[in-house]
Amino acid sequence: MNPLIFVAAPFISGIFGTVIFGKHSSKTRIPGLLFHTVLADPELNLSHFSSSTFCKFVNLVHELQLTPVTISHAAEQNEYGSNQKRLLITFDDGLENINSNAIECLNKFNFKSTIFCVSGFTGKKSAWDVYNQTMHLNASEIRSISDNGHEIGSHTHTHANLTNLAVKDLIEELRTSKRVLEDITGKEVKSISFPHGSWNQRVWNTARNEGYKYASLYRGHYRSNDPGHFPVLSAGRFDSEKMLLEKMRLSTQFSPSIAFSKIASQFAKGTPLWRFRKNYDLLQDLNKDNKKK
Ligand SMILES: [Zn+2]
Repeated sequence: MNPLIFVAAPFISGIFGTVIFGKHSSKTRIPGLLFHTVLADPELNLSHFSSSTFCKFVNLVHELQLTPVTISHAAEQNEYGSNQKRLLITFDDGLENINSNAIECLNKFNFKSTIFCVSGFTGKKSAWDVYNQTMHLNASEIRSISDNGHEIGSHTHTHANLTNLAVKDLIEELRTSKRVLEDITGKEVKSISFPHGSWNQRVWNTARNEGYKYASLYRGHYRSNDPGHFPVLSAGRFDSEKMLLEKMRLSTQFSPSIAFSKIASQFAKGTPLWRFRKNYDLLQDLNKDNKKK
């Protein structure tokens, strides 16, 4: 076999991936980014992001006279001119590491973000399998972030995959989380980010009934026409500040980093690709066990 195939194949599939997935969703009215963990010394983990790149990005946003706003602000007010001048910065999970590594950089310029907290883990370590026991913001940190004008949204009470829940449990997750976070901030919780990006129309209708007005969508925005929905692209471990900016320009055509965000989102827990990979791992383990016998 010609060894050139090992160079040509990724190159050609990269071009195809970029052309097919590398554009903003037609549903995106205001560009948005999603972060999880922000660390001075990030590990080789796709959900980790470097604090120095984050702050460089914020400086660049300031130089270009763009304004990060909260989701409620984006939906309810129309300052700062057109949506080309505004952007959304969101954080899922409400982890403690974002406080000094990201929120402080935003506060320097009075920029606002939306932080989606898992109310049942306030001030505790995460217990689900995405992270290695990471500490969540405590109540006084959440209150102080909210007092600085950032929006506190819900990421449910226990980080449950909402599409799998019976109606009673779904209502419990949405209602408890809203109540706990409202008690902490003294403000109405209007927005939600669905854990693992997992939602369907039943989940959204129930959230609306429970008083939520807006949702950030990491996946599935192509099937939504709801004005309360805001698509966000994940900030990847290897994105530079310039790549983040490229993702935030609605005029960007065919960006490899937009394509990568969309493709990576399909590997979140509960997606068909995640299930395929999990089944593949189980099969490998079974084969190993059989060989030992
Ligand atoms: Zn999450």
